[in-house]
Amino acid sequence: MQTSVEPSPHQLDGRSTGPRLVSQALRRGAWLKCPACGLGALFHRYLKVSDNCSHCGEALHHQRADDAPTYFTIVIVGHVVVSLVLAVEIAYRPPLWFHAALWLPLTIILALIVLAPVKGALVGLQWSLLMHGFDPDAKEEIGDQLAPPSA
Ligand SMILES: [Zn+2]
Repeated sequence: MQTSVEPSPHQLDGRSTGPRLVSQALRRGAWLKCPACGLGALFHRYLKVSDNCSHCGEALHHQRADDAPTYFTIVIVGHVVVSLVLAVEIAYRPPLWFHAALWLPLTIILALIVLAPVKGALVGLQWSLLMHGFDPDAKEEIGDQLAPPSA
């Protein structure tokens, strides 16, 4: 549910103008919190980024995470699961049905758990690096082109 809040005096069109620490924004995003204040929810549904922070009003709709969270999740989960598969195979040499029954569900569950924090961290990174319209001085983006100046 989206609620309207009073914008912070340090905001310009819903974009905060204060310092943006990359490590702090990454951490807040990974905890699924607004990268600007760390209190409002970043997502309003699973993997659906809120248009604005419910606490500080920061505009979050500028994010363009696209497929990047998926790639990073595959890398992270792949390293964990493949390491475990190799360790179990070397130590116990279980039958193939055991591998399939154990690792397929575990891979899916881990991917679903890891995906949201990774997407949150990437949104926080984009916010801290002033990417994709998060810059208070940037013109609003329309598709791939900049909007014409308002008269
Ligand atoms: Zn916020």
